[in-house]
Amino acid sequence: MIEFQHVFKAYGRSKNILADINFNVDPGEFVFISGPSGAGKSTLLKLIGGLEPPSRGAVFVNRQRVDKLPARERPYLRRAVGIILQDTHLLFDRNATQNVMLPLAIMGLDTRAAAARARAALDKVGLAGKEDLNPVEMSGGEQQRLAIARAIVNRPTILIADEPTANLDQESARRIMDVFRDFNQVGVTTLIASHDRPLMARYANRTLHIDAGRFSDSSGVTP
Ligand code: ADP
Ligand code: ADP
Repeated sequence: MIEFQHVFKAYGRSKNILADINFNVDPGEFVFISGPSGAGKSTLLKLIGGLEPPSRGAVFVNRQRVDKLPARERPYLRRAVGIILQDTHLLFDRNATQNVMLPLAIMGLDTRAAAARARAALDKVGLAGKEDLNPVEMSGGEQQRLAIARAIVNRPTILIADEPTANLDQESARRIMDVFRDFNQVGVTTLIASHDRPLMARYANRTLHIDAGRFSDSSGVTP
């Protein structure tokens, strides 16, 4: 479902952040991306989402080569991969429903259908009743769940998130992870970059670890 073949990544003229990375992720897996700050976890996720091109090698998502995707195929990738970046990019000049409707508006869905789907997505992440709130009126955990709702409203088959529990208390962090688990249990392939190994040990069944250019791939998460 996701495949990296001899992937290298450097920004500009810097040295390689990722060097000769090879792995496959099968449908339905729940993968923990671990490693210290600056190791390249975000970069790995951005390569999957097509937000950064590899310097060398090939990245495949659903057998399509992401880095060679023609412009007309990009909307397909957007639907296939839901992304929650560290900066959630929520819009503070509109309410929760309107934030979640954005990706649907971009796809050309009419407003009524989009609003109904947005409400369903908010319900799935536990934000029923908060549809009309502006993100400013929400807690950190609620904002994170709002970002998840926006990422899943297109029903992606892959969900990737960068440090989704950073800066949250344990209870909120667990609620976020429960949301990911619920999507994973209905078949959504899930990859999460995090520093919180004990938390991830309760959810993920595979670890991709990056550290100073070294890469390892193991089943399970050692707490
Ligand atoms: P992590 O998510 O593990 O903290 P990142 O993938 O964010 O790591 O970053 C890996 C390295 O790449 C860091 O040294 C970071 O400064 C550098 N980096 C990340 N994004 C860019 C960019 N757009 N331009 C230049 N360097 C970058
Ligand atoms: P552009 O629309 O100019 O090509 P980007 O591709 O960098 O800009 O993405 C713009 C915004 O869309 C970013 O906030 C990014 O997080 C989001 N985005 C890009 N690709 C996806 C995707 N596959 N799934 C969800 N969000 C995405």
